[in-house]
Amino acid sequence: MHYSLIYEEPLFRPPSEAYSLILQPTIGCSWNRCSFCEMYSTKKFRIRDIGELKEEIKAISEIQSDVKKVFLADGNALVLQHDYLVELLAELKNAFPKLIRVSAYALPKDLLAKTDDELSILREAGLKIIYVGIESGDDEVLQMVDKGETAATTIEGLVKAREAGIKCSVMILNGLGGKTYSRQHAENSAQVVNLVQPEYLSMLVLSFPHGIGHFKGRFKGNFEPCDISDLLQELKMFIDSTALEQTVFRSDHASNYLILKGILGRDKERILAEIEHTLENPQKAGLRPEWLRGL
Ligand code: SF4
Repeated sequence: MHYSLIYEEPLFRPPSEAYSLILQPTIGCSWNRCSFCEMYSTKKFRIRDIGELKEEIKAISEIQSDVKKVFLADGNALVLQHDYLVELLAELKNAFPKLIRVSAYALPKDLLAKTDDELSILREAGLKIIYVGIESGDDEVLQMVDKGETAATTIEGLVKAREAGIKCSVMILNGLGGKTYSRQHAENSAQVVNLVQPEYLSMLVLSFPHGIGHFKGRFKGNFEPCDISDLLQELKMFIDSTALEQTVFRSDHASNYLILKGILGRDKERILAEIEHTLENPQKAGLRPEWLRGL
C-alpha cells in the first residue's frame, strides 16, 4: 500500500530532521517580514484544519506505524493555539507508539504567548525540541531587519521554553549587520546565547537569494556587506564572547565557509584557534574550496 503526503511547497526543515515525518499544520510564516528571509515569501500564512491533519496521520500510520520523529512545518508552527497543539500531539502519540519526539520552528513571541503550564503540557505531550532563528542579539540589527523581536523577548521566550523542559536549537546569522554593526551584532548575540544556554547553536551566513540590492532595499540602515575576513573576525568575536556551559556548536550549513564543530565551552579555545589559523593564513587555509575561489 502507498500513501503520499501532498505538501504545499516550498517546504523547509532543519538538517537534523532529515529522517522525520514532516507534517504541515501551518502554511507559511505568521510573521513573514524579515528582510533577509525569502523562505515563505510566496505563501500567505494559514492554519490547516485539524481534521485534515488527523486524516493524514491516520493514513500514514496504517502503512508506517513505526515513526519516531515528527517535524511540524512551516515557519513557526508554535504559533498554533494551545488546544490545537495538544490535540495534534495526542493524535500523533496515539498513531505512532514509537514516537520519541515532535519538533517545530518557533518565534520567541510564540513562546511568550503561551503560559508556563501550557509549555510544560506541550513538552509532556511530546514537543521535545524547538528551532529558533535568533539571528542577532543586537536590538539595532533586529530592528533594521524587521525581525519583530528584541534581545529581551528572545531571552525571555527561550528561557521560558527551557524551563518547561523543551530543548532549544538556535541559529545566529553571521554578517547580518554588515561591516557597520559587526561588533555589536557579535557581542550582543553572544550575550543572548549566554543567558539562554541553548542545547544547540548553529552559525549560518547571511545570503542574498534575490541579490544584494534587494536585501539593501529592505535593510533599514546602512548595509555594507562583510567580506570573508570580516565574517571570520565577527565569528571570532562572537565565539570569544560566549560563556556557554554545554552547547553543541555547529557551523556546517551550506552557507558556511569554514566548517567548525564542537561543544562550547569545552572546545572554545580550539575553535578560536581554528578561526585564527584561517584568518592569519594568506591562502585562508580551512575554507571550503568554493569560498576560496571567491577570494
Ligand atoms: S520569522 Fe523566520 S521564517 Fe518568518 S520571515 Fe522571519 S526568518 Fe523567515
